[in-house]
Amino acid sequence: MSRALFPVSDHCFQDVPVWAEGTARLPHLDHDRIGHTRWCKCTNCISLPTKEESVCCHELANLTRYITREVKCVTLEETFRDECLDEVLLISHLKYKSKISKNEFLHKRAEFLQRAAYRSFQSWAHGFCGPKRGIPIPACVVSLVRRTFPVPLIPGKPMDYSFSEGPAVDMANTG
Ligand SMILES: [Zn+2]
Ligand SMILES: [Zn+2]
Repeated sequence: MSRALFPVSDHCFQDVPVWAEGTARLPHLDHDRIGHTRWCKCTNCISLPTKEESVCCHELANLTRYITREVKCVTLEETFRDECLDEVLLISHLKYKSKISKNEFLHKRAEFLQRAAYRSFQSWAHGFCGPKRGIPIPACVVSLVRRTFPVPLIPGKPMDYSFSEGPAVDMANTG
């Protein structure tokens, strides 16, 4: 087949990540991160209980390629929303990647959807090695995932997003 039929072939794969998987650098975290979000540069992060979770999308090397003048936070990136927040897609992932029954899913729907969203985020952000490396999930992503798949309120009980597993990165690696 003639190369002339593919005039843009030199530009093919220009969107394929060029970083080597597994090379993600962990951000340097100082101690003063609890109880405020002054460390956030994207304006969408929330305060989380530990400094390891208190990380902004601007601080993770693999995410900076998504941040532009228009897209100031990865949660505004279209491909992130398509891959990590689409409920139909996440349920499909749960069906073939998890060992949960339909009843278990229906019982803890929000928790399983959040887990699947975090897992999808790690793959989207870091490639195949992501989930194994314990790279934190930015607090802006945690905030949006929680708001997208909220835990149903139980009358008389305060809202509890944390589940028993703690940080989002741990939720991504289990279930
Ligand atoms: Zn932020
Ligand atoms: Zn952000």
